Parts: sequence; C-alpha cells; structure tokens
Amino acid sequence: MINKWIQQDVIAIDDPVDLLVYQTRLVGSDDSLVIGGGGNTSLKTKEIDWRGDEIEVLRVKGTGANLINITRNQFPGLRLQDLKNLFDKSIMTDEEMVEYLDRSLIELDSGRPSIETLLHAFVPRISILHSHADAILSLTNNNQSRVNLKKVFGNDLGVVAYKRPGFLLSKEVGKAALKNDNLRGVVLINHGLVTWGDTPKESYDSHIELVNRAEKFIEDNKSFSITNPHNSKNNKLNRNFVKIIAPVLRGLVSREERFILNFDNNDDILKFVNGDKGKLLSRLGAATPDHLLVTKRNPLWIDILEKHSPREIYNSINTSINAFTRNYSNWFHRYNHYNVSMKTKEPRVVLIPGVGMWTLGKDAITASTVNKIYNHTISIINNAESIGSYKSLKPKDVYDAEYWPLEMYKLTLAPPEMELSRRIALVTGGASGIGRAIARRLAAAGAHVVVSDMDLSGAQLVANEIVSKHGSMKAIAIEMDVSKPIQVEKAFEQLIYAYGGLDILVSNAGIARWGSMTDITQQDWNDSISINTTGHWLVAKEALKIMQPQGLGGSIVIIGTKNITSPGKEFGAYSVSKAAAGQLARVLALENGKYKIRVNTVNPDAVFKDSQLWSSEIREQRAEAHGIPVDEIEEFYVQRNLLKVNVSAEDVAETVLFLASDRSSRTTGAVIPVDGGLQ
Ligand code: ZN
Repeated sequence: MINKWIQQDVIAIDDPVDLLVYQTRLVGSDDSLVIGGGGNTSLKTKEIDWRGDEIEVLRVKGTGANLINITRNQFPGLRLQDLKNLFDKSIMTDEEMVEYLDRSLIELDSGRPSIETLLHAFVPRISILHSHADAILSLTNNNQSRVNLKKVFGNDLGVVAYKRPGFLLSKEVGKAALKNDNLRGVVLINHGLVTWGDTPKESYDSHIELVNRAEKFIEDNKSFSITNPHNSKNNKLNRNFVKIIAPVLRGLVSREERFILNFDNNDDILKFVNGDKGKLLSRLGAATPDHLLVTKRNPLWIDILEKHSPREIYNSINTSINAFTRNYSNWFHRYNHYNVSMKTKEPRVVLIPGVGMWTLGKDAITASTVNKIYNHTISIINNAESIGSYKSLKPKDVYDAEYWPLEMYKLTLAPPEMELSRRIALVTGGASGIGRAIARRLAAAGAHVVVSDMDLSGAQLVANEIVSKHGSMKAIAIEMDVSKPIQVEKAFEQLIYAYGGLDILVSNAGIARWGSMTDITQQDWNDSISINTTGHWLVAKEALKIMQPQGLGGSIVIIGTKNITSPGKEFGAYSVSKAAAGQLARVLALENGKYKIRVNTVNPDAVFKDSQLWSSEIREQRAEAHGIPVDEIEEFYVQRNLLKVNVSAEDVAETVLFLASDRSSRTTGAVIPVDGGLQ
C-alpha cells in the first residue's frame, strides 16, 4: 500500500480541519482501506464557542459521509469535555448516547456525528484514524489471529476483542490507549484498525506503515492458494448464458422490491467461484459489521450449468433464492431482540460457478458498492485462508450489527424513492428532440436510463447530463441503429451487463422522408419501412426477450405520429411506415397482456423544437404541401389544432412518463395523441 501523503500539497494549509479533510480523503481514496461510507477520522482542536470562550472540540466524521469526497462541513464539532465525562460511566444505551452526542454539538445546524464518535473522544490523542483495511481483516478474521497479530505488530498495537460498535467498544479502545502510552493504535477483531498520533500525518503514516506490515506478513507466509479452478474451461464466459440468467435472476429477487444488478466476472471472482473451496468459504460470513450491512452476512450460491434448459435454470435460481430468504427469515426471527421489522430478505451478492458474480442494489451505484466490498471480501478470505482459517462473526453478532438501531437510523437519511426509482428504461433516438426530452423526464422521475442513438456522441451528452443531475451510473449511452438486428441485439446485451434487466422501453427512433407516391424513391421507401416499422419491431423483440423471463411486467411505448390516423399527402412513406408501427403496438399488446407487459402508442404532432425530424428541407416541403410560406409553418400547425397551442417534446415526454409508470397500470393497446387536438 502506498503512502499518498505529499507534504508539498499541505504546505499552504494552515487550518487544522482542512488538514483533517486532506488526510481523510487520502484514506477514502484507497479501496483496500475503506469502501463507500466506511471508516472514520477525527481531530481534536481548540475553537471559540458561541460564548467567546476557547474550548476543546472534537471534529469527527459525520454519519453517512464518504471519506473519499468528504468536505469540512461533514465534520460536526462536539464539546470534547462533555464526551470525556462519559468515560467513567459503566453503561449507556444507544438512545442515551445519541441524545447526549446531539446535545454536545457546538453548531446548531451540523449533521449527526459518526456512531463511533466516543471511540475518538476516549483516546487521549489529537488525531484518530479508523479503517477496515483488507490486510488487517485477513489477520483478525482468522483462527490464528492472536498469534499472528503478536508476530506482526508486537507491542505497537493493542488488540480489542469483537464488540459491536457503540459505547462499550469505545470504552475498551479508550482503556487500551490509557493503559499503554506507547501504543500506536489498536486492532479491532473482526472489524479493523485504529491508529492515532499528534497530527493527521502521524496517524496516517502509522496506519499505512502498519497495514503494509500486515500485507508483507501475508505475502511472506502464504502457504497455498485456495484459488485452484477445478475446471479451467469454466473461465471462458458464455455471454449468451449471462443474458439468459440476468433477467430471471432480477425478476426473482425483485418480487418484494426491484433491484438493479451489477455483473462482474473478473479473474479473482472466477477463481473464487470456480475454486474447490469457494462454496464453503462463501458461507463463512462477512468480514466486518460494516461490510455485512452492504453485502448481508453471506452471498447466495447457485449451481447452474450451460446445458440446462431455461426451465431448469429458472427452477434452480428460484429454489436457491427461496432457500436463502427462508434461512434469512429464520435467522432474523431467532435473534430479533430489537423487535424491528425485517429488511428485504433477498441476497445482495449472487455467485454462480463458471459465470461470475451479480450484486444487487436499489440503484446502480449501490450495486457497484456491493460489488467492490465483495471483491475485497474475496481477497480478505483468500489471504486469511493462506495463513490460517477464515473466521467471521457469530450469527447473533451479525443480527446486532445489521439491525443496530443506529445503523437503521442511517437508512432514514437516504433521499426518498421516486416514482421510477429501481426501474430501468431504454429510449431509442435519445440524442435529440422528443427522445432526449423523454430520457430527461424518465431520469427526473428516478429511472436508470439507457440513451441509445445512431449518434453515439449525442447520446453520450444526454447520458452525461443525466448523470451530473441525478447521480453516478444513472444513465449510459449506447450506439444503436434500430434497423440493424445485430446492433440492436448488442445494445440490449450492453444493457443487461450494465443494469441486469429492463422495465420500460420507449421506441422513439424514426425518420421522415417525403415525396408523393409516384415520386418517392425506392431507397426512401425502404429506409422508412426499415426504421419506422422494422426498427420498432426489432427493439420491441429484444426488449421482450428480457421483460418476459423477468416476470415483472413492463411498459413499452411506441412513439407514433398523428399521421397514423390522419396521413399527409406527399408524406406517404412516413405515414405508411408509422401506421404499420401503430398496428405493431396493438399486436404486441395482444400478445403480451399475459405477461403484464403493456404496449401503448403516443401520437405527437408538429413538435418542432430541437427536432431532427423537422429539418429545413422537411419544413420547406411541408409548407409547400400546405401551400403556405415556410416561415409560417409553425404558426400554421398551431392554428390547425383545437387548443391553438404549440406542442413541445416535453409535452410528449409527460405522456410517455404516464404510460411508463404504474399510474397507467390498467392501460394497454391504447393510443394517446399529443397534438393540441385535431379534427
Ligand atoms: Zn468501523
């Protein structure tokens, strides 16, 4: 592990809290120290309080903050003397502790401090740093832990037996620090490492040096590798198999709440799932109380083979998930002394030999955090096994950690879910005009959006905009020409790898070619049919290959045109090809009602703004067809409708949102015009 401290970077920093921010971000930037919201840091400072008196203040990470991008205001300050006064108490309930911490805050508007605040307060040193370093966990989660910890750290670190974080653990750490002035920190069994020093640099340097010692010990003492794949040809991935498994898996884990799936088959995962001991080791439990909140105690292991039929695959996955949720529920009811309601029973990590790993989350970023943590868990287990035997928390301790009311409180800090949260939508022709407005609208309603277009860079711009507005991994861009079957198939494969399934398809891509039936070229006619008719069929077909086995219903919206019901002269190829798409939607609705997949059509008219369709040639041509000057074309269409209004892409997107959402759950095979009303 690299010590990333660069003295040059901090020379200009004179505020101690800024130095704490610098140190904390360094820790957060290393995945093998902390992941997501894990770990915490603190600094004891002197500040002037509201009375004008100088007091000792503990600046400690706020609950829920991520170390990697933490800011100054995410370090609430607490009156240190108030906290020190608690050290002599013998017991304190969580509620008492939280209330006490709240009352010790020096600013009225700061967030809650970390639930490990007292640990930081009770150690009489200026700078404290706590991580869940992988190498430390390989030593602590081990039947050889006592012996090995002594060998590696000698008298530099104290050892504190496992206790759930909270008042008592904080006292234990404080006592260890007081007992021995020479300690540089403590190892927390089944949990991680705490180091301290007089400055943020000292506690950081110590941390990295001690983790490096652990890494070196493991490297020098590795007796064997557990990762002997029993079948090397399993390492070659069958992409088709992934496409078959993912929707079934997503459907079966989403019976209570929908999940977004992340797929990974990197070498370490494949070695683990294909190794002789993978199944056994995966059942030994998570590495820390912090990790199990994200991954649950154990992953779900499913044995399925490529030669199995789709029915057999479905049955294996179904049986495995049912057994997992049954076990989880039994375990929960056995230990539920907090008398709280059960979290979703579904696994968060799914391992399949020969294939890889899926991780689940309420959104893609959460699924990716689960992925990161389990990748580290695999490395922790492998290293632990190479120097002893991996050991984890007892089932009761797991309950106490997973259902600790203070951790449950953290969950309430998450923003409320939105109408399309946990949903995955694909919009074709999403780089501009109506498609772009739809992609934006669905994302604003909480959906993960796949923006597809022939114009990949245009689609990428839209996806980037969504990500910057609604969060990391909320959108991706995919190149797709809807008239090319191979490209369409590949695009849906990309979607499966990115999110694991599909809930909403908005088939929007289209072209407009003009000319009377006697003048239009064969090429324009063919292009119109292949994009405006066949294109809708191809994307719908691929979408159904996911939605049907997924078993969660779905919504397909085809963007038609008012020309379906009321064609325009010299606009025949467009009108005919779009009318066929309208008929396609009705047939799709007929065939897919039994799957609870709804198929509806939206017929817009005269949406000019940002439209690729309304090119200057089309404007001129339609003006000529209607016998009006070209600069009056927009006004002509306004005057043509009953409401005398302009129709915007956003108006169309609003109707698409209604059809995509459960608000229209009883509507299929319908056609909704968005045209200002036409006679
Ligand atoms: Zn911790």
